[in-house]
Amino acid sequence: MAESAAASRPPPDVDGDDCLREYRHLFSPDILAGQVAFITGGGSGIGFRIAEVFMRHGCRTVIASRNLQRVSEASKKLVAATGQQCLPLSIDVRQPQTIAAAVDEALKEFKRIDILVNGAAGNFLCPASALSFNAFKTVIDIDTIGTFNTSKVLFEKYFRDHGGVIVNITATLSYRGQALQVHAGTAKAAIDAMTRHLAVEWGPNNIRVNSLAPGPITGTEGYRRLGGKFAEEASQFDMIPLQRAGNKTEIAHSTLYLASPLSSYVTGTTLVVDGGSWLTSANNFPALLGIASSSAKL
Ligand code: NAP
Repeated sequence: MAESAAASRPPPDVDGDDCLREYRHLFSPDILAGQVAFITGGGSGIGFRIAEVFMRHGCRTVIASRNLQRVSEASKKLVAATGQQCLPLSIDVRQPQTIAAAVDEALKEFKRIDILVNGAAGNFLCPASALSFNAFKTVIDIDTIGTFNTSKVLFEKYFRDHGGVIVNITATLSYRGQALQVHAGTAKAAIDAMTRHLAVEWGPNNIRVNSLAPGPITGTEGYRRLGGKFAEEASQFDMIPLQRAGNKTEIAHSTLYLASPLSSYVTGTTLVVDGGSWLTSANNFPALLGIASSSAKL
């Protein structure tokens, strides 16, 4: 592999849910100064890094998911690393009343919410033939309906009157019908459709709505569950045009772009952040079945 040019060299990252040991600003450090972001799934993985990078750019955050202990511990790390405020709250995106209570608490604390990142999701590898009706429904409930529930609560409680930005974290799974992913691929494709519908309806309220579709991202639950290590060991990432997996900081930087005024005329679109992966990666059913049976929860 050729030594990567600066344009595609990844920024430093760390594997676990810990803050970065070093950080060099590429965007203006005050690009989100004074703003508040509500991030579902912000206590772990990609959502955690998005919270950190936003906070390093002057933003206060609310990180919300089911496990209050997880978001509380994450919040302590984020505050210590960035010096910004971070409010950890418990929500289940399948239950609108829990979202409404959390948004009320966030507004009481910060008086505003400027950005919503819908990152909460669940996934695992499973062939459609082995997937229970309930497992399929649960993924749709968390990913798709959860994204709608949270967006609608934010719209009603704040964005309708003040404007705002929504970034939905989706995936490229449906683009080529990825094997063992009918549940998540369907759920995320529906979110990309929702992105366009809401962008059209809510644009006049000064609300921008976009999706960001990551490829394989190291140091995440998704990477661990969906065979990232296996793909790495089998040199499968050589097939990706940029010849590597991405990292959480790269996703956070692209989310920062979509959430910031740099993308002030961008709405209703999906930004694919995958090193070109979906264009060239194998969709190998038997190989994936091997990973599923050894590493994933069916
Ligand atoms: P992760 O750490 O497992 O993040 C998922 C988060 O969602 C967790 O913090 C979880 O927290 C929260 N969550 C799950 N169910 C919830 C519910 N019902 N209500 C509220 N919160 C809920 O995984 P990740 O790999 O970083 O993924 C983050 C996002 O990126 C997801 O949308 C995923 O689909 C997307 N993505 C990831 C990759 C990748 O390579 N990792 C690739 C493409 C797309 P609790 O358990 O505390 O609720």
